[in-house]
Amino acid sequence: MSEDNLPPLREVINHYELQAKKKLGQNFLTDLNLTGKIARSAGKLDNSIVYEVGPGPGALTRGLLMNGASKVIAVEMDHRCIDALVDVSNAYEGRLIVHEGDALKIDELALIGDHKDKDILIVANLPYNVGTALLVKWMAVDQWRPWFKSLTLMFQKEVGERIVAKPKTKAYGRLSVLCQYRAKTEILFDISPRAFSPSPKVTSCIVQIIPRDENIDAPTQKILEKLVSAAFNQRRKMLRSSLKSLNTDPLPKLMAAGIKDTARAEELSVGDFCKLAKEYEN
Ligand code: SAM
Repeated sequence: MSEDNLPPLREVINHYELQAKKKLGQNFLTDLNLTGKIARSAGKLDNSIVYEVGPGPGALTRGLLMNGASKVIAVEMDHRCIDALVDVSNAYEGRLIVHEGDALKIDELALIGDHKDKDILIVANLPYNVGTALLVKWMAVDQWRPWFKSLTLMFQKEVGERIVAKPKTKAYGRLSVLCQYRAKTEILFDISPRAFSPSPKVTSCIVQIIPRDENIDAPTQKILEKLVSAAFNQRRKMLRSSLKSLNTDPLPKLMAAGIKDTARAEELSVGDFCKLAKEYEN
């Protein structure tokens, strides 16, 4: 028996015959000490609503509840996991709501409903195959500050490094700019492949993303996204050439933003991208 009087995760996985499915990006955590550490790193759990994607057999969910989360709303796509999650929900009466569905398609606020003055924390061990798409869905909202207070997410280390990357590094790209232009990003700690069942090939990490207040000079997300995609799609080319795909002469825009036309995408700071996006907005 583990601390919460539910059976250990390995027993749950065997009991409900939850053989991991690759196509659902399933690598399950089984150590409640580790999931407790992830839960505590997410911030104040007792007066917030936690939105969790992909609870699977419930390792992170239990870590959250054992560490004081007053309400967890979880979305899981794999029907086989639902009974295991109902057991967790029964053990933590009224504190866990499980919804079967695809997180990519869900309207989170409709699901969460009235949350009054509670913060919403997104916490998830994301399926590798949809992790980046979900991150972009959450970060690409027009309305800023967004509906969530923070994201505490597990990614493959390589993806985490792209999120926090600085200019002039190989990892710096579209994801770095889109996350950093209006949020603080940080890798909190790494997680060894040995922590999972089955073990993935690569190391994972916990990334935290905390939205900042929007700067009044910030460009709209859509224009920045177009610009950054054009620039990094041809990252080895100079901007005067790669930005031609936006169908406007890039030279006056680059000049107005004070950026050399011979610069390449990875040399621009996040601030440079914002300045340039503003020129495209005008
Ligand atoms: N949170 C569990 C843990 O830490 O052990 C499981 C993590 S596993 C990496 C990813 C989970 O996300 C799986 O349970 C999988 O079924 C679920 N999943 C995959 N795609 C999903 C989607 N589009 N929407 C909701 N859940 C999804």
